[in-house]
Amino acid sequence: MKNIAVIGAGMAGVTAARTLVQAGHRVSVFEKSKGAGGRMATRDTPYGGFDHGAQYFTVRDERFMRALNEVPGTQALCKPWSASSVQVRDPLGRVIEVPKPPRELHFVGAPAMNSLVRHWASPLAEAGQLFCNTSVKALRRKGKQWQLVSAEDKVLGSFDSVVLAIPNVQAAYLLRQSGAPAAQFKALAATEAVSVAPCWTLMLAFPLVQPGLGQMGPQWNVAQSTHHRIAWVARESSKPGRSPIERWTVQASAAWSQEHVQDDEARVEAKLLKAFAELTGIRAEPGFSQLHLWRYAKTLQAAGQAYFWDEEQHIGLCGDWLIGHRVEDAFVSGLSLALSLQAPA
Ligand SMILES: Cc1cc2nc3c(=O)[nH]c(=O)nc-3n(C[C@H](O)[C@H](O)[C@H](O)COP(=O)(O)OP(=O)(O)OC[C@H]3O[C@@H](n4cnc5c(N)ncnc54)[C@H](O)[C@@H]3O)c2cc1C
Repeated sequence: MKNIAVIGAGMAGVTAARTLVQAGHRVSVFEKSKGAGGRMATRDTPYGGFDHGAQYFTVRDERFMRALNEVPGTQALCKPWSASSVQVRDPLGRVIEVPKPPRELHFVGAPAMNSLVRHWASPLAEAGQLFCNTSVKALRRKGKQWQLVSAEDKVLGSFDSVVLAIPNVQAAYLLRQSGAPAAQFKALAATEAVSVAPCWTLMLAFPLVQPGLGQMGPQWNVAQSTHHRIAWVARESSKPGRSPIERWTVQASAAWSQEHVQDDEARVEAKLLKAFAELTGIRAEPGFSQLHLWRYAKTLQAAGQAYFWDEEQHIGLCGDWLIGHRVEDAFVSGLSLALSLQAPA
């Protein structure tokens, strides 16, 4: 049995932690936010929730499907949601909507996108193994063990191994804060080969629109877009079991987000609102509007291996960015790393 720290309680970290616990290891999970979920996130507002990170997930890997079907209580937390139309511009530059037959089922978390990971993390929380509101600032070598240090300079414990289940840039930062020469960390090379784009995300609610009196704006609920500012818009109120108040999530494109990552929020919000009106025809003033910047949203170039494990340093890396940019990639990465560590060395 090893004493293992997992940093990050998104899909990858929680999957890795559960699998390591099942293999008999002692596991502690540290998460800087107030709850598990990571980018499978939901922003609660007086008008209803917004899935301002992942909008839906798909299931292609048999092991992910098995987990969704077999972990008790999971099926009820995943609801099918139709996200299958595409917006394109016609030759005159007008935005038109083209229905796209779904190639696969799309699921959303119920009642919120973070419900799935929070449910999977609940045995860890109940066993006192999940430490939220705990940002890990540094790793320190103490003999054969790793000491984790919090943002408040508190020692969080000593561990045989550390799993970094966080975005690549944050993982690289932590490794550099270890006090050891960078050359000692093969893991750094894995983080540096990767490119991840930010995403400006705008959440809009129109509470004056009466539910049931016909939808406001377009008759479709989601659109991938060719608009240069916007990559995706979705009607949050169309998701199963959510508040009926008219709500939209708008995700800026990777290129535009990258270009405007340093802009001030008011400017970004105004530009995205204008683009939203052009795309949807909704020109009403929103009753609620909130902006969020995901600094490490979408993998553009993945590491190309499911996980990374440094047998000398006893440091592992997992997360979507190792193999892709989807929720399922995070699951596969966390699972693969944990399975590789199952047999205590
Ligand atoms: C805007 C947006 C839209 C998306 N749309 C989709 C989609 O439609 N479909 C899809 O499949 N995927 C989508 N994704 C991607 C999906 O959300 C991710 O692939 C997946 O959630 C990644 O999980 P993860 O565990 O690898 O990382 P994360 O979810 O990022 O988890 C990492 C966790 O580590 C924590 N953390 C970071 N640093 C520290 C530290 N120093 N100490 C403690 N904790 C720390 C973070 O708070 C976070 O909870 C989207 C993502 C974004 C941002």
